[in-house]
Amino acid sequence: MSWDPLSPEQRELRDLVRTVARERIAPRAAEIDASHAFPWDVVEVFREAGIFGLLFDEEDGGTGTGALLALVAIEEIARVCASSSLILAVQELGSLGLKLAGSPQQRAAWLPRLASGEVLAAYALTEAGSGSDSAAMRTTARADGDGFVLDGGKRFITNAGVAGLYTVFAKTDPEAGHRGISAFLVEAGAPGFEVARLEEKLGINGSTTGELVFDGVRVGPEALLGEEGEGFRLAMRILDRSRPGVAAQALGIAQGATDYALEYARTRETMGKPIAQHQLIAGKLADMETTTEAARGLLYRYGRMVDEGVPADELTKASAMAKLFCGDVAMQAAVEAVQILGGYGYVREYPVERFLRDAKITQIYEGTQEVQRLVIAREMLKESRTFLMEGVG
Ligand SMILES: Cc1cc2nc3c(=O)[nH]c(=O)nc-3n(C[C@H](O)[C@H](O)[C@H](O)COP(=O)(O)OP(=O)(O)OC[C@H]3O[C@@H](n4cnc5c(N)ncnc54)[C@H](O)[C@@H]3O)c2cc1C
Repeated sequence: MSWDPLSPEQRELRDLVRTVARERIAPRAAEIDASHAFPWDVVEVFREAGIFGLLFDEEDGGTGTGALLALVAIEEIARVCASSSLILAVQELGSLGLKLAGSPQQRAAWLPRLASGEVLAAYALTEAGSGSDSAAMRTTARADGDGFVLDGGKRFITNAGVAGLYTVFAKTDPEAGHRGISAFLVEAGAPGFEVARLEEKLGINGSTTGELVFDGVRVGPEALLGEEGEGFRLAMRILDRSRPGVAAQALGIAQGATDYALEYARTRETMGKPIAQHQLIAGKLADMETTTEAARGLLYRYGRMVDEGVPADELTKASAMAKLFCGDVAMQAAVEAVQILGGYGYVREYPVERFLRDAKITQIYEGTQEVQRLVIAREMLKESRTFLMEGVG
């Protein structure tokens, strides 16, 4: 057996998720993509197998098996179906506000239901006019009695229409810039809250992406997540912790594409030998394997940092680097897999064109690749490091 970075206990759980992926998700993946329908049967599989629990601490109803294993679970599912892996990644994204800033009452009310998968979560930050520049949001939450009234809209929200609980960011003080933003828990079905439409997309077709409208949505004081005015900081802390989920999705896509291309190249013959033995194809496979393994190194390092208790403000750079690198590797591996399959790579009968369409979003959501580079460079400038060339040159 080749060297494995996971402990025996982690390996056991990874193998469980891998079996679920191979036996229950892989046979459905093409259909999920073609139907453009949210796969509730996959949610049921995750519930039955306790897979949602891998994202949560024991006291919140989860397995308490840590951040690394949660990422591994997303990766394993993404190796066969990126849409299904997003169900897990967004359960984490939509629960992180509660985990990081929820009161004991809010946590008790929601986290066990999220850990079992009874309720699905969503995270609503982006608006039509504010994506990368999220502080420019226009949705407002006006104080009203002891509660708030939300007005405005959100765009591109994953799990729109299927989530039971939305973490929504809105301006409680529109004059105060990013310091005037607060976070709220809004339940599906709240009067005045509706999903106005769902997007047609290039990939991740099994995931809903929708526009939310808030028209005088009244919420009580118990809906405020964290302190008033602390919402923007919370949104960024959540992204620090959730971006590696996208990286895990990307890593799974890269591995899935590499595995498929390898199997194909072993058996497809041209000019009297398997294409894997043509040096130009062998070189592609070697590059796909090497970059995927390097991406895994960055992502698992982040997972270990969390599990070893590295303080939150030291995770930002590691998180952005994992997302940046895994996303780019997924895109390259998917492009090369299509190339290795030739004409067969371009048609729906084979899964690699789906991997290619699904890979692209990992370079866009939860902060584009450009934004990750800005984050990484900003963190580099904050660091004091030993400079070995002092006074030289
Ligand atoms: C399928 C899908 C699912 C999504 N799910 C969610 C979700 O669940 N919740 C949520 O809140 N949002 C979600 N989003 C929104 C997503 O996070 C944003 O689309 C993304 O952050 C980019 O914002 P934008 O689309 O407004 O692009 P813009 O911010 O308009 O950016 C356009 C281009 O300019 C670049 N750019 C912008 N600013 C800079 C800069 N300062 N320096 C250099 N380049 C820059 C960007 O990198 C990009 O290439 C989702 C989007 C999609 C497509």
